[in-house]
This record gives sequence, C-alpha cells and structure tokens, in this order.
Amino acid sequence: MPWDAEEDKPRDACGVFGVFCTDPEQDVASLVYYGLFSLQHRGQESAGIAAVKQETIECRKGMGLVGEVFHAGSIAQLKGSAAIGHVRYSTMGASTLENTQPFVSHFKLGSIAVGHNGTLTNADVIRELLEDAGAGFTSSSDSEVIINLIAKNYKKGLEKALTDTIKSIKGSYALVVLTGDALVGARDPNGIRPLCLGQYEGGWILASESCAVDAVGGSFVRDIEPGELIIINAGGVRSFPFSEKTPRAGCSFEYIYFARPDSVIDGIDVYGSRVRAGEILGREAPAAADLVIGVPDSGVPAAIGYGRASGTPYGQGIVKSKYVGRTFIAPSQELREKAVSVKHNVIHQEVRDKRVVVIDDSIVRGTTSRRLVSILRKAGAREVHFRVCSPPVRCPCYFGIDTPHRRDLISNGSSVEELRASLGADSLAFISARGLLESLGGGGGYCLGCFTGEYPIPVPGEYREQGTGNQ
Ligand code: SF4
Repeated sequence: MPWDAEEDKPRDACGVFGVFCTDPEQDVASLVYYGLFSLQHRGQESAGIAAVKQETIECRKGMGLVGEVFHAGSIAQLKGSAAIGHVRYSTMGASTLENTQPFVSHFKLGSIAVGHNGTLTNADVIRELLEDAGAGFTSSSDSEVIINLIAKNYKKGLEKALTDTIKSIKGSYALVVLTGDALVGARDPNGIRPLCLGQYEGGWILASESCAVDAVGGSFVRDIEPGELIIINAGGVRSFPFSEKTPRAGCSFEYIYFARPDSVIDGIDVYGSRVRAGEILGREAPAAADLVIGVPDSGVPAAIGYGRASGTPYGQGIVKSKYVGRTFIAPSQELREKAVSVKHNVIHQEVRDKRVVVIDDSIVRGTTSRRLVSILRKAGAREVHFRVCSPPVRCPCYFGIDTPHRRDLISNGSSVEELRASLGADSLAFISARGLLESLGGGGGYCLGCFTGEYPIPVPGEYREQGTGNQ
C-alpha cells in the first residue's frame, strides 16, 4: 500500500521503559512517567503506562504527549511495584486509541502487558494463524500479535512462552513485557532497535535509551544484547540468549537523528558520533567558507566537528522553536511546509555577507533543506553550502522507522547535482557510507538499509513492492 498520511497504518517509532522494584510496597508508576518524559522524542502521539499489583495489571493510556495523557491523579491510581510504559509516534491516520500501547491481556492463567518498539516482518502471517485458532484482535498493532502469541503459549510457563514467542517473530523489536511477578525485556537477534538495562536504588530499569535511566536517577548497567531475553523478578536478573549468533545490525539512524545526544547505545555515545560524523564530513567535503552552522538539534554537534576538521569558525546561525514537533514526522506535506517556517529562523547578523556551510543530519523529502537554503539567502548569506551527515536516503525502512514512500524520497532517482539544483544551494555533499561507519567506531555491525537498500533481514516481497516501510 502506498505511503499515505490518511492510511490507518501503524507507523511506529517508539520508546519503551520498564521498572521492577524489589520492595513490593513501592509504587513505581511515577518513575515510568519520568522515564517516558525523557523518551518523548521517540514518540509524541500517544503514551501509556501499565502497572502490576498483586498480579493485577492496570493500564492508563491516551492520545497526546506524556504530560497531556497523565496527571498527578492518574499516576497515583496506578499502583504497583513493577510497571512498563510506552510512547508512540504514528501518522495522523493511525493515531487511534486502539493502537496505543502498552497492550494488556487478561486470561485464565494471568495478565500480561506488552510495549514494543520496532516492526515485525511476519506479523500478518502470525496474526492469520492466531485468528484461525480463535484469537481476537482489536487493533492493527504488532504488539497485539505478540501479546496473543505469549497468551497462547502461557500454559508452558513464562520462560517457555516468552522464548517460543520470540523465536516465532521476525523483524526488529525492543520489547518490554510485564507479568504478575516479573519485568521482561528482549531485543531482536540483530539488535536493530536499542534497549538497555539500568539499576536504581531499589530496583531495575529497562529503557530504549540510557538518557531515560539517567532521568530517573538510575545508573546504566549495560545494553541488552541482540537476541537476549532478560527476566527480572524478586529472585534477581536472569539472562537467556534465545537465538543463534546473528550479525549485529544496530540502526545507524539512531545515531544520526533519532536518539538523544546524551544517550549511549551499544557502547557508542550519540553526541560523540555526531561530532565525529561532522569531522569526517569536513575532511570528505570541505568548502571554502566563513562560517559553519548546524541545523538544530542533530546538526549542531556535526557542525562543531566540521568546523574543527575544516578550520571553519562555528557559529549559531539557525534557531529552532522548542515547541514545534519534529518535521520528519509531521503528518502531511502542507503541514510539514508550514512547520518548517515556524520551526527554524536565521540569526541574520550572524550569516549576513558570509559564505555559510550548513550541516543537517539527513535529507528525506527535501522540503526542510530547500526552505533552509532560502531563508539563509534571504538573511543575506553570500553562499550556502549544504552538507549532510548521512548518506542519501533512497530506500524505505522496514524496521520501525516511519519513512515516506520510495518515490517521495528526494534522493531516490536524483543525482547529487540535481538535488543541489533543486535545493538552490551553491554546493551539496553527503557523508559517505564508509564515513558514517567510521563515525560509529569504524567496524561494521550497523544497518544502513535506508541508504543502501541492503537490509539485515529479508523483507517480504509484498512490502518491497509497496515501496514503503509502513506496514
Ligand atoms: S533501514 Fe535505516 S532507519 Fe531502518 S533500521 Fe536500517 S538504518 Fe535504521
């Protein structure tokens, strides 16, 4: 199905958070609330928290930002010493309450709640099998597929139910699962989506990013390994590898754009990787210029690195309003264009009469970049040289990141020179794929699928034909 903002499709870029407190008298929903606040950049359209007390799971969720969905009263109602939470992004069409997470299922043998970041590539097949076996679905979410699969296997015992479920699903996932007496985490065998373990005085934390562990006063322990299942209960933390060793393929876009700069993912600090990417870009594509500026937020550390490597003075030439949502995930072309002009403004006196290098993290549709070049020229910049800290985005993502239809990706089918002309810049250059990998430590182990079209796991043909990663 073509990418369409009006389609009712789950298009998730989500954040998950979970807490298990060793003191059964403590309530932890407020910790999850703060954890979700620090993961708000991963999803801004809905939020939810599920907490367990005496094996009963209560859940509150709704549409909107964490601060809009919850208030002191609703948090106080969520009792229990273990809880999970979820923030979700979807396009407008998929913004329905039925698709919000966590999903909770109450069945004969107990209750479970699931929060999921990622996309299953075999969800349709499993859904059909489960429906044939009598399972009912209320949403189009992959998480409901997971919860039904766990429920079906639950009589085998928690560990077996979880491992059987996880072995059946394919694709990308960072999962948090809450049961009557345990908090469970799992990461897909390639480690595409991030998940880490933290500790705080009194218990354990699972989070999409380490910034959320910091936010609640916890300390980062380690990343969950690709293909690792982790069960936390009153007996402590136990870890089970559930898959054969598979090549690592962490999402490189997490470092380029998605993750917060104060997070560390798989041993690489996000801020440092952005500075290094800028340095590499400064070596790969220098421009004779008087000033280098970054497009806030992710372009700023890269501009600092570019300035260092090329000897160009760094300055703040663009200001971003803190109160406008991310352009990349705005729901329609018209809204997106409006959002760009509201979102960014130029400090005229900083760029006037100067040859300016502007660094951005990526170019997707090109709308933002074109507008930026135009407002920089209007502010008096003599030359505008555009530099990009990711290779050209040419292909959709099938692993949990919302990307437009292939035909709407401006780099798909255009040469760099055609793109430069379309943006109206004096020059344009992208970091090379090799340069991007160098910024991430120099080895492999990263997914570059949306740049190269080579994906770490097979993508079903029907999705490829659709030309979109939105399933
Ligand atoms: S295809 Fe791109 S956005 Fe998707 S997981 Fe791979 S690198 Fe990340």
